[in-house]
Amino acid sequence: MKIAVASGKGGTGKTTISVNIAMSLSPPVQLLDCDVEEPNAHIFLKPEIYETRNVTRMVPEVDLSKCNFCGACGDLCKFNAITVLKDVTVLTFHEMCHGCKGCVMVCPQKAITEKSKIFGQLKKGMAKHVACVSGLLNVGEAMSPALIEIVKKEIPSDGIAIIDAPPGTSCPMITTVRNTDYVILVTEPTPFGLNDLILAVEAVKLLKIPFGIVINRSDIGDQKVHEYARRENIPVLMEIPHNRDIAVAYSKGILMIDVLPEMKVIFQQLVESIIKQGGK
Ligand code: SF4
Ligand code: SF4
Repeated sequence: MKIAVASGKGGTGKTTISVNIAMSLSPPVQLLDCDVEEPNAHIFLKPEIYETRNVTRMVPEVDLSKCNFCGACGDLCKFNAITVLKDVTVLTFHEMCHGCKGCVMVCPQKAITEKSKIFGQLKKGMAKHVACVSGLLNVGEAMSPALIEIVKKEIPSDGIAIIDAPPGTSCPMITTVRNTDYVILVTEPTPFGLNDLILAVEAVKLLKIPFGIVINRSDIGDQKVHEYARRENIPVLMEIPHNRDIAVAYSKGILMIDVLPEMKVIFQQLVESIIKQGGK
């Protein structure tokens, strides 16, 4: 079963929930860190890394000796990843290239070929019984969805995969939660929390994936998230009150279940209730 943990905004405790769920479950369990621009699950899990490899994607390369500066490639590219400076040169912006091969196919001079470009890293490791996979996008790269897809290819066919999604509701989050079995939306009971939760709920509804809410620091702020959940008939899977010990542990990269061991069974029950809801 693939369970994504997402939130409409950063700083809600999404990664904390992900790593604590993963470490509370019995094997086989996997934690995938798909927040490839800023992966931080490893800070809490401290996995022993056994494999690190570069990941590549194909980008265009122009042979100017064949080019007649017709402009067809620049006209075709919807991502502004290739631009023709008439009779001077053809500029490529690989960070923005989606690898669609359109420019290669449209070039009448066969001046464009593809080359492989390293755009990030994939790491695999073990944190006790939890298999960990994470992606790390190179600085300056914009194609995080491509790396997220590579990370998700590592999901095994058995066991439970907990997938830590990037914050927000744009392409990286959608790529992460797409084709999962359930989405846990982590939020806070504040006006900002509610606003971003509503956006995340709309995104997950469009994808037709079952979902529920975890309310972190549930005793701060107001009751509007609770009222919204009641009104929309969204299950509140868990509420975690503000706790100084949890906050101190977080700041030191220590798991919540290591300072409050009684939380372990609560995280296990959370997954059991998801399995019941998801019917898997
Ligand atoms: S389509 Fe080919 S020939 Fe035309 S400008 Fe681009 S690279 Fe040059
Ligand atoms: S491969 Fe596609 S996205 Fe990349 S430069 Fe060519 S047309 Fe643009």
